[in-house]
Amino acid sequence: MNLRIPGPTPCPPDVLEAVARPMINHRGRLFADLIQRVSGRLREFFQTKGDILILTGSGTGGMEAAVVNTLSPGEKVLAVSIGEFGRRFAAIARAYGAQVMPLDYEPGQAAQPEDIRRALGEDPDIVAVLVTHNETSTGVTNPLREMAQAVREFDRLLLVDGVSSVGSIPVETDAWGLDVVISGSQKGWMVPPGLAFLSLSERAWQAQQRARMPRFYWDLAKHRDSLAKGQTPWTPALSVLFGLEVALERMAREGLEAIFARHAGLGQMVRDGVKALGLELLADERFASNTVTAVKMPPGIEAKALTRLLEEEFDVVLAGGQGNLAGKIFRIGHLGWVTEEDIRQTLTALERALPRLGYALPVYRQAR
Ligand code: PMP
Repeated sequence: MNLRIPGPTPCPPDVLEAVARPMINHRGRLFADLIQRVSGRLREFFQTKGDILILTGSGTGGMEAAVVNTLSPGEKVLAVSIGEFGRRFAAIARAYGAQVMPLDYEPGQAAQPEDIRRALGEDPDIVAVLVTHNETSTGVTNPLREMAQAVREFDRLLLVDGVSSVGSIPVETDAWGLDVVISGSQKGWMVPPGLAFLSLSERAWQAQQRARMPRFYWDLAKHRDSLAKGQTPWTPALSVLFGLEVALERMAREGLEAIFARHAGLGQMVRDGVKALGLELLADERFASNTVTAVKMPPGIEAKALTRLLEEEFDVVLAGGQGNLAGKIFRIGHLGWVTEEDIRQTLTALERALPRLGYALPVYRQAR
């Protein structure tokens, strides 16, 4: 099966073998070595010298951990949203009593750093900014470096949802001054769902001490103290961690820059390919994501019919749209363990499936 959704992503066979290993004592030496090795290695991909914590939970759990560990009820936050996941970050902050100031953009658009600068300039009470780096629901990558620069000018806290970006496209946690960055195991990391990764800056740890939102499972001070002893406060998803170590070895062999270049190349290949079929991208192409592409459904064709046909007859699994975009777009994931051949297959399947649903391919395509 060619699983081309933006996570869970396919896992290489050696990762799956590792996931099937027998359990070990999570309070023993073997585990201590494992968690310390893996957290150390994650630092390279987050490009940070700061702390990385591994939590058992999905990406959303990581986002909730970021919020409850840095904020207090009643505090004002600027929630920058360019899609579903931006809105989710805002909803989490609201659920815990933050006063959320939304900064929303149309689907397909990226956020503008100047808007953040203006909002922070106008309201000195905003203590933190919530940002999605790569918006998986629209296939847009925000200009995070420039956005972070605006936040740093005002010295506010910056929480970044990097769930579908870290490890696949460049995220320079320390150099850009990102306070908390969150990712999830089932994305570019090529391992099954079940773990969230968080980086924390010194500023984030200071906020952690002041923050008064309720927390227990996600109390990051407990996680940091446990990690110092080679443990986690609660029983971790051991199998996923076994897989992660193998995946990180693979990633280290390929090299950070080569991984970024591969994703950039595949992203371009997908965009060129869908446009050659006469289809339109949802994203403003200047900010198109190199991990996921959202494509507008051609008029008169049902998204569900397309994804069903692709899955049943071509063995290619694509994602539909989420929220307001349900039925209006389909999405192609191209992050993690993915090659040009996987993308070629996907594009060929689209080219064959669409006409069967009544779509007229561009004339130069029909001639083939
Ligand atoms: N943020 C982004 C950008 C995502 O792509 C996802 C997962 N699709 C999440 C957050 C939520 O992660 P999870 O589904 O692992 O909770």
